[in-house]
Amino acid sequence: MTGLFDFMSDFMSNVIAIDGPAASGKSTIAGMIAKRLNIAYISTGSLYRAVALACLRAGRSLENVPRSFLETLKLEYRPGADDQYELMLNGEFPGAALRGLEVAAGASKVAAQPDVRAYLLDVQRSFANKNLIVMEGRDIGTVIFPDAKYKFFITATPEERARRRLSQEGERFDAEALAEVARAIAERDEQDANRPIAPLKPAADAVIIDNTGLTLEESMLAVLEHIE
Ligand code: C5P
Repeated sequence: MTGLFDFMSDFMSNVIAIDGPAASGKSTIAGMIAKRLNIAYISTGSLYRAVALACLRAGRSLENVPRSFLETLKLEYRPGADDQYELMLNGEFPGAALRGLEVAAGASKVAAQPDVRAYLLDVQRSFANKNLIVMEGRDIGTVIFPDAKYKFFITATPEERARRRLSQEGERFDAEALAEVARAIAERDEQDANRPIAPLKPAADAVIIDNTGLTLEESMLAVLEHIE
């Protein structure tokens, strides 16, 4: 028998939206879910990072990035390592260049600009199709796909997120380094949550998962539990 959910889901976007603040583990969890379900995964933060990187490389200001500049950028997702989609900027995979602190802070700056968001909205919406896809970012469930079939908001305390970010880099760190990264993360969250356009916040119908005390595997299972 067809249930109400099956009927309604015909009209919803075939998207698992995973939003949340910086270093909450959402990209790793999104990747794990995609692997489990054998579907594609798109990290939308790389679009904002690529715009910031392109500005820095061109020696142009990160303030008021005009549409004419955005239109010169070739932004496309192609299967990279692990067969998952990775963003190509002007024909090449930027790789580690997208992950630096300067690019992350720049991404948050350009992401607050209405022209940049409007331009990247179409790019992101073009991924919706008949196959289920995992998309991860800040406003996937609120703005890009408000009609996504599944919505999650993954978060953890700033200290825990700073610890994870530093452990990811594989180096030993002291309390001072931890405090500095926690400060940078809190600053970026503050900027993302307080911008007037598409602020970082859970969608009203998102499942909120605080994974401060959870392993990545446990967080992934907490998400999977809600997916049919
Ligand atoms: O997720 P990631 O850390 O790569 O995102 C970099 C920045 O891009 C975020 O701090 C945020 O300002 C912006 N972003 C956004 N909307 C998204 C994804 C990322 O505003 N959907």
